Amino acid sequence: MGHTIRARPPREQVAPPGIDRSPEALAGRLEDAAHFPGGHADGIARPRTESEVAALVSTCASVLPIGAQSSVTGGATPAGGVLLSTDRLTAIEPAGPRRYRAGAGVPLDALQSRLAADGCWYAPAPTYTGAFVGGVAATNAAGAATFKYGATRPWIEALTVVLGCGDVLDLERGAVHADPAHGFEVVCAHGIRRFRPGRYVMPGVPKCSAGYYAAAEMDLIDLFIGAEGTLGVIVDLTVRVLPAPGAAASALISCPTESAGLAVVHALRDASQQTWAEKDPLGIDVSAIEHLDQRCLEVLREDGVDRGQSVTIPGSTELLLLVQLELPAGTTAAMAYDAVAGALEPGAPDGPLMRFCQVLAAHGVLDSTELAAPGDSRRAHQFLMLREGAPVGVNRRVGDARRRIDDRIDKTAADMIVPFDRFDDMMAMYRDGYARRGLDYAIWGHISDGNVHPNVIPRSYADVVAGREAILEFGREVVRMGGSPLAEHGVGRSSLKQALLRLMYGDKGVEQMRAIKAALDPDWKLAPGVLFARQ
Ligand SMILES: Cc1cc2nc3c(=O)[nH]c(=O)nc-3n(C[C@H](O)[C@H](O)[C@H](O)COP(=O)(O)OP(=O)(O)OC[C@H]3O[C@@H](n4cnc5c(N)ncnc54)[C@H](O)[C@@H]3O)c2cc1C
Repeated sequence: MGHTIRARPPREQVAPPGIDRSPEALAGRLEDAAHFPGGHADGIARPRTESEVAALVSTCASVLPIGAQSSVTGGATPAGGVLLSTDRLTAIEPAGPRRYRAGAGVPLDALQSRLAADGCWYAPAPTYTGAFVGGVAATNAAGAATFKYGATRPWIEALTVVLGCGDVLDLERGAVHADPAHGFEVVCAHGIRRFRPGRYVMPGVPKCSAGYYAAAEMDLIDLFIGAEGTLGVIVDLTVRVLPAPGAAASALISCPTESAGLAVVHALRDASQQTWAEKDPLGIDVSAIEHLDQRCLEVLREDGVDRGQSVTIPGSTELLLLVQLELPAGTTAAMAYDAVAGALEPGAPDGPLMRFCQVLAAHGVLDSTELAAPGDSRRAHQFLMLREGAPVGVNRRVGDARRRIDDRIDKTAADMIVPFDRFDDMMAMYRDGYARRGLDYAIWGHISDGNVHPNVIPRSYADVVAGREAILEFGREVVRMGGSPLAEHGVGRSSLKQALLRLMYGDKGVEQMRAIKAALDPDWKLAPGVLFARQ
């Protein structure tokens, strides 16, 4: 182990892949899921190998690597230069015990199907399963089940990265660490790149996608995870996988008040952490809890999503929770229903579902809970579609307002996380900040991590302006609470998210990131304008 790594030339010297400059090829590639207007590119190339990636990068002045373009921050929206689509880098192969190596262009759902055939799965997947693994690594994506499995970073064991100069780095976890005095040295054909990790302190929360990872003796691989394409093009990665999970159930819990819902979440989190600590086979084992607030529920009802998914949400519900509960292998639907039916009887057999029901009963929400039993994938899918109906409905309202009222109206949303013991304070802060500004808003998200997405439902451009101001105010407060105002979606080209990054680490911190970028990509050719401007 040392602080120096020698980059190598690509495996073959090849001609760069063709750059398609036709409007047809670029159609649909000029924006990502953030739908920022004005995306433009000189052309698009679709390399098939590491060598083609290297040949392209070394001959272009400006390159934006893209995956599935599901970025919600404009990170995959081109601002000139050439788009490097990774969609032909799709090989998947075993790479040792519980390790798989996948091309950057493998969609997560394709990876999961391949793993399922081998009796395994990749645990920390984000909600959008069409995302490519290269994009997931580049954004250090996290998902609903971060509560149990963490975010992407610790699951990546190796990366192959093409640098801006066209040299290739083979990064293996544990192989290269920052030297406290000298930082890192990357030896390339055209010189030695020297740089130090940022000296800013990252918040101690389960997810943080906020510029470059920094720690005194950090692993070099961690710098490229979450760098949003600005330091190198990820060609392939090796991930750790788990044996396929045992049984699972989902529960939809209608809570009469927000505080009652939060109490349920606290109890389920505590019980699950105790189960993991004690390795208790009878304990509650929750991997994720998703949350929809009252305004989300109104949106679902207005859009008929509840009826469409055959779900009845009691009118008195203030907070809806969707819980993913892991159960011992072999638990059948019949066993699950028996356990639920007998859970409150004296002498009921102990087990995860019995204990789960007892927690719900203690909080007065057992009768307003519906269970999708193990194996009932249709019902579980309906619950998930209900949850997804909230962002879909809110995003549609934003689009409608843009068309009908003012074309400057845009999605005005945050993605913040606090240590869970400050979650109630964060929710109170959102409610107060939005109410003071007279804004209509909805909040949903990954409550088991303390990470939610407050979204303004704008009725005018003034609402968007006030919503952005509120987000900056929230960001300052979240940093004070020890959290991150940039939890899982990254920074991208969003001016608001770039302002939140400065707010987190100060101008000094962003300068330290710029210094790393300048050392590794001196021509500033990779994803320019993503994370921060060149200046
Ligand atoms: C419906 C929906 C749900 C979502 N849910 C979640 C969620 O639960 N959690 C979460 O974290 N995110 C979520 N996202 C955001 C998004 O899916 C993630 O950020 C995802 O990781 C992006 O992957 P992608 O392949 O689409 O990357 P893209 O959007 O194409 O790119 C994202 C960034 O990564 C860079 N990049 C892409 N590929 C490479 C590569 N091979 N090498 C170097 N840089 C690269 C790009 O330059 C860009 O800066 C969601 C998005 C949508 C639309």
